[in-house]
Amino acid sequence: MRIAEHILPGKQFLSLEFFPPKNSSDWPAFFRVVANLKNLQPLFVSVTYGAGGSTSENTLAIVTRMKQEFSLEPMAHLTCVGATEQSILSFLENLAAAGVDNVLALQGDPPQDPAIVLPESKDFIFASDLVSFIREHYPAMGVGVAGYPEGHPESASLDKDLQSLKYKVDQGGDFIVTQLFFDNDYYWDFVQRARELGIEKPIVPGVMPIFSLKVIQKVVSLCGATVPADFLKELEEADEQGGADAVLALGIRHARSQILGLLKGGAPGVHLYTLNRDDACLELLEGIF
Ligand SMILES: Cc1cc2nc3c(=O)[nH]c(=O)nc-3n(C[C@H](O)[C@H](O)[C@H](O)COP(=O)(O)OP(=O)(O)OC[C@H]3O[C@@H](n4cnc5c(N)ncnc54)[C@H](O)[C@@H]3O)c2cc1C
Repeated sequence: MRIAEHILPGKQFLSLEFFPPKNSSDWPAFFRVVANLKNLQPLFVSVTYGAGGSTSENTLAIVTRMKQEFSLEPMAHLTCVGATEQSILSFLENLAAAGVDNVLALQGDPPQDPAIVLPESKDFIFASDLVSFIREHYPAMGVGVAGYPEGHPESASLDKDLQSLKYKVDQGGDFIVTQLFFDNDYYWDFVQRARELGIEKPIVPGVMPIFSLKVIQKVVSLCGATVPADFLKELEEADEQGGADAVLALGIRHARSQILGLLKGGAPGVHLYTLNRDDACLELLEGIF
């Protein structure tokens, strides 16, 4: 199934993002999380990919099991930084053989470990190169792309970033999944600017719940999203007074309110970054999906 064909007006959906556990000993627990979250009937589930192909086998194995054992609709993330045409073709061939019909085509984050230096790719620079390559070789594949409501950190301006997004979509992106944001106004403004520029594809908001102050501070420092000052103050006070549990409760409350606002405002659905946590995700989505 090509995901974009199932993003329909009046049928708001949930999709869930997972990351592959590093150690295979953690896989049984991971798949228990997947099984628990399957009860939410997500339209699709996505699995991240280590740029440079470091975890590509895990991504492939996980999306294959999600499809074949769990009857979920998976979307494999796929990055092109440091990749060759041959490595991308081989991954796509394996996906197709496993019956996986969708990829999220990305440039990829450089590895955080300075000891890992990716080879410079002669074949791909931007995600748009990957999108057109997939379209050429696997025209039936569903292709999602990433969008940045607060702008990509390396982009010269919001306008330039949006023009890059338009180019990426014009190369064959079917739909857009956004980077996380903590103030829905960033999303609404992004959608409006995208429409004004002629980007007509669905824009699915990505919501990352805050389950830990340390984790979110790291994520935000890498991806360029901002935590509103008053919310950050609340989180820090919660941390001082009630510790991790208080931060979790506040994070759940905020994500829940963001999701309700997005659905009420007419977003096509919500893509939840689960952080592989079933308990907290089920709590925050209770009564919504
Ligand atoms: C929903 C989502 C999921 C993600 N999953 C992963 C994952 O699984 N693994 C991972 O490693 N990373 C992941 N990322 C992070 C992503 O790889 C990084 O943000 C990366 O730096 C940019 O990826 P992109 O696909 O948006 O790149 P691009 O669209 O290529 O954009 C990268 C930068 O280049 C600029 N640009 C693009 N095209 C041009 C052009 N033609 N000329 C000049 N400038 C241009 C853009 O404005 C932007 O600043 C994810 C991000 C999102 C939002």
